[in-house]
Amino acid sequence: MIGHEWAVRLLQRSLERGQLSHAYLLLGPPRVGKATLALALARAINCTGEAPPCGVCRSCRLIAAGRHPDVHLVEGGEVRAIRIDQVRELQRQAVLSPVEARRRVVILTDFQGATPEAANCLLKTLEEPPPPVVLILTATHEGRLLPTIVSRCQPLWLRPPAVPAIARGLQERCGAQPEQAQQLARLAAGRVGWAVEAARGGQLLQQREAQLGHLGEVLGADTIGHLRLARELSGDAEALPALLDLWLGWWRDLLLWRAGCSELVCNADQAAALERTAGGHTVPELLAGLQALADARRRLECNANPRLTLEVLFLTLGAS
Ligand SMILES: [Zn+2]
Repeated sequence: MIGHEWAVRLLQRSLERGQLSHAYLLLGPPRVGKATLALALARAINCTGEAPPCGVCRSCRLIAAGRHPDVHLVEGGEVRAIRIDQVRELQRQAVLSPVEARRRVVILTDFQGATPEAANCLLKTLEEPPPPVVLILTATHEGRLLPTIVSRCQPLWLRPPAVPAIARGLQERCGAQPEQAQQLARLAAGRVGWAVEAARGGQLLQQREAQLGHLGEVLGADTIGHLRLARELSGDAEALPALLDLWLGWWRDLLLWRAGCSELVCNADQAAALERTAGGHTVPELLAGLQALADARRRLECNANPRLTLEVLFLTLGAS
């Protein structure tokens, strides 16, 4: 794990004392490390090595490969919601004795996107949990979950780790060079998972460049261009929350730049573009843009039509 030491310590102590809760709710922004912590707990519970999770015993290796018969991971998403048939299938398996584990572990990620039917169905399991099961839910906001679900889980809030902690982790765990680690940690803005993937040579930096390029297109387009971009970008609805988060971060940087705090910006490599864009806008215009982006992000969370949401956003950004 990178960051979240207090949560790791708390779970370790509960495990050592045999006082694990039957259900945990890991809360935090996207890619902060919720699913990673959930899987680390699954490994620690079932590890047969001397220092759990050892990472090398059969159980640890099976879980890491996603092939352990008693560890079930159901990945949700903002758009790809967890459905009732997936919860029913888990409930069917949860009552069976573990095949080779000490306890079954059921992990449901991004549960804030689950359908109401799925959430209601899961309540039954939370009310009468089968004894050898540990249920771990992850979600971005507790406010988007049924209160009855939140109250039956032990919540752990994962805060975005600071830049130095992520940079240190990238050097120790991913073999990143100090300068690269520092740059990625800054760009990550607390998203540990993003930083790790970028350090391991994924396509994230190119993807980020393309996403910022789209923002440039939006700012330079006329009305027809705005409608075309909204149609094109809404085609990949699952990618939109991350896209808007990146644009929000960039827009925040614009305000910092305008306020003369350029040393605090996250997107430090974008100095020229920030300078150019910030110079062409007044502070009220920049604030209106930030508000429009935040509104669009919120609307997407409430399952608004992605294309309409982008059209409104682009017309607002274009008018400022
Ligand atoms: Zn192990």
